[in-house]
Amino acid sequence: MYCKNCGQELNENQEVCLSCGFKKGNGSKYCQNCGSAVRDPGQEICINCGAKLHNSDLFGDGSPNLAGQNKWVMAIICFLVGTLGIHNFIMGENKKGIFKIIMTCCCGIGFIFMLIDFVRILTDSYVVDPTKLV
Ligand SMILES: [Zn+2]
Ligand SMILES: [Zn+2]
Repeated sequence: MYCKNCGQELNENQEVCLSCGFKKGNGSKYCQNCGSAVRDPGQEICINCGAKLHNSDLFGDGSPNLAGQNKWVMAIICFLVGTLGIHNFIMGENKKGIFKIIMTCCCGIGFIFMLIDFVRILTDSYVVDPTKLV
C-alpha cells in the first residue's frame, strides 16, 4: 500500500500518510498498489502493475452500489427530479431514465417508480447493475 499523493509506502492500518498528510486513498499521482508515478491524470489502470487507480475512495462516501455516486445526493436528486429519471441518467442507467420519462409524460405514474427508487436508495438496497449500463 502506497500513498496516492506522494508515493510513500504506507502500513496496512495507517490512515494518514506521514510524509504529506493525505488520507489513505486520496490523491491521484501515484499507484496505491505499487507506488509508481501516474503520468496521465485520466489514466484508469496502473501501467506498472495493472491495478485500478480509481477506487470508491475517490468519491468520498460514494456508494459502489450507486456507481460511485453519493447516496444522499442521489436520494435528493431522485426525490426532486426522479420522475424524469435524472438520478438514473447520472448513474448511467439511461434505459431506466427514458422509461421513467415515458411513464411520467404518457401515464403520469412516474412518481411511483421515483418513490420506489427513493426508498431503495435510502435503504441501501438500490444496486446499479454495471452489465446493464448503456
Ligand atoms: Zn503521502
Ligand atoms: Zn501500480
